[in-house]
Parts: sequence; structure tokens; C-alpha cells
Amino acid sequence: MVTSFCFADGVPSTSAPSAAAHAPGDWDSCHACEATYRHRALAKGEKLFCARCGELLDVARIETLRQDGLALALTGLVLLVLANVFPVMTFDVAGAEQSNHIITGVLGLIGQNYAPLAVLVFFSAILAPFLYLLLGSYVLTARCLGQVWPFDFKLYRVIEWLAPWNLVPVFAVACLVAVVRLDLLGTVTWKTGAIFIVLLSLCCLLLEQLRASAGQESDARLRPQTDPRVKRQRAVALVAAGIILYPFANLLPVMTMSVTGEVAALTVWGGVLELYHVGLWPAAVIVFLASMCVPFLKLASLVWLLWMDGKPEFRVGRTKLFRVLETVGTWSMVDIFLLSVLVAVGQLGTLASVQTEPGALFFAAVLVCTLFAAANYDVRMIWREAKG
Ligand SMILES: [Zn+2]
Repeated sequence: MVTSFCFADGVPSTSAPSAAAHAPGDWDSCHACEATYRHRALAKGEKLFCARCGELLDVARIETLRQDGLALALTGLVLLVLANVFPVMTFDVAGAEQSNHIITGVLGLIGQNYAPLAVLVFFSAILAPFLYLLLGSYVLTARCLGQVWPFDFKLYRVIEWLAPWNLVPVFAVACLVAVVRLDLLGTVTWKTGAIFIVLLSLCCLLLEQLRASAGQESDARLRPQTDPRVKRQRAVALVAAGIILYPFANLLPVMTMSVTGEVAALTVWGGVLELYHVGLWPAAVIVFLASMCVPFLKLASLVWLLWMDGKPEFRVGRTKLFRVLETVGTWSMVDIFLLSVLVAVGQLGTLASVQTEPGALFFAAVLVCTLFAAANYDVRMIWREAKG
């Protein structure tokens, strides 16, 4: 059963934030459009949507969601350790063999003097997922026990911030594309670590799904505290930087591949064409969508959203568009992860080598700009009237 709940605009949300859960009768306001509403006991399967903007506000049986979330977070932590301990794949060219762990790509990028890329890969494939799962386990354990442990709300805020940086599923796709590409040049064999990466990806995707279906699980203290106008200025600056860097990211080569004497400098588009020409069009489509379309559409959408601030048109659509941007935006990391995997296994001296090129730095910079721009875009601006 799905219910829309009437908002009662103008009624102040005066109640002090409760412990871990809302009591029926508590006033609260929608995180997106700030319309106020009153909590009430929900029937089994019932969902409460904001009547003004359509955001999911509350769901019945939040306890079950928390227990499922805790089980997934703890499983994820174990899988993350296993995924990092075991090698992911081995690459064999003319008898010379190289295997890689997730960290091998990070070290390879440092070795090629591309420390910023190494930091980005390390953070989004190892550190952010680890913190996300660890803090998630902490917060959810407390909430499952019906308690509030120290720093609960601060940590919940950190988890919200970390969520778009937990890119293990994107890393898994990058491994797949890397194998498809390397298979043309030598023999690739999957290793145990790959299984754990796949399982960990599923775990993380399910957790995000749960987080999305939990509505406004938190309470008033979770709302962003920075002035939306300050955040807007930051978002504008980051989008502008992203637009300036975007052409360089696409025109400059991101890597040079040399296999048994054949050297090829590849741009992002060149990589797509190469995959297409050898008949691997599914991989070509993935890289094209993730590396070229997503960053472009994300920048264009952010420009439109910022332009529309204070205007009354398409408010519900703009809110939905922003939610989509938050989830699909990170898929453009595929190319950076792909590079890290290729750098990791492409260290076979004269037989096979992969060298990072400056285009990759521009590409990563565009990505970081769009990620932070989206993080700084405050969805509440859509619902606020323009100041005369
Ligand atoms: Zn709303």
C-alpha cells in the first residue's frame, strides 16, 4: 500500500529531535522541499511520500530495514577484506605473467608519478567503502538495539557523504572491461579476489537500495547546516571548472599501451573506438556511456538546475533529476579504475606496458568537480523562492 501524505505548510516543526526513531505525532519537515508533516504510525508496507515534491519521507517497519542493513554492512566488511587480500586476475603475454590486487593499481599509479589518481582510486575503491561499511555497522548496531551511541548523527552525516564515493560496483565493471580488452593481447585468468569483488558490489548496491527505501530515516539534525546560497556558489564554481576541463579530458590521451612492440596512445574516445572495432561493442557502449555521456549530461543537468533556481517551473521534475544525478554520476569512474587495473597488470617490461598520460588527470578532475558540485547542490534551492 502506498500513501501520499498531505503537507501542512506553515506549521513549525517545534518538537525536539527524538532519539533514534520518530514517535507518531512528531513534526518534521521534508528534506527536499521543507514542507512540514506529522509522523504517524504506518501500516505494514505503507510508505509516506511528500505531497509537495514526491520524496519518500517514512516507511513502515523501519526496524526490519535496519536489521537487513546491519547484516549487509557486516557481510560487506568481511568481503572487503577478502577482496583486498586475494589477487583479482593474472595477465599472461608470451609466458610472462603478472597478477594484481586492488592495491596494485594504486601503487602502479604512484610509480608513474600520478599520485592524485592513485589517491582517487585508493579512496573510492578501498578507503571510502571500508569507512562506509564500518560506520554503517556502528550506527545500525546502535539503532537495532534501540540506543543512540556517541556521535550517531555526526557519523550518519559522514555515511551520507561517503555513499557516492563507495565505488566498488564501478570497480567491478572496470575489471570486466579491462579483461575484455586484455584478452585481445594475451591470456587473462580470473582469480579468487574477483568473486569477492562481485559479492561485495552486490552487497554495496543492496545497501544503497535499502538506504534509498528507508526514506528520511534520520531526523532534523541531519539536514545540511551550510547556507544553501554558499553551497550554490561552490556548485557554480565547480561546474564552471568542470566545463573548462571537459574538452581536455576528452582530447588528450589518457594512456599509452604498448604490447609486444606496438605502441598506441588512447584518448577516451579512442578507447571506445578500439573496443568497437574489434567487435566488443557491449564494452564500447559501457565505456562510451560512463566516460563520455555521463560527465557531459551531469554537467549539462547541473547547469540547468542552477539556472532554474528560484523559478517555479518543473520543480518535481528537477527534484527527481537531481536524485538521478546523485546515483548515476559516479559511473564515470569506470575509466579511471580501468586505467588502474591496466597499469597494475601491464607491467611486463617490453612485452606489455601501460603508461598513464596527462589526459587521465583532466578526466579525473572533471569527475571530482561534478561529484563535489552535486554534493554542494542543495535540493532545497529548487523549492525556495527567488529573492527579489
Ligand atoms: Zn517535499
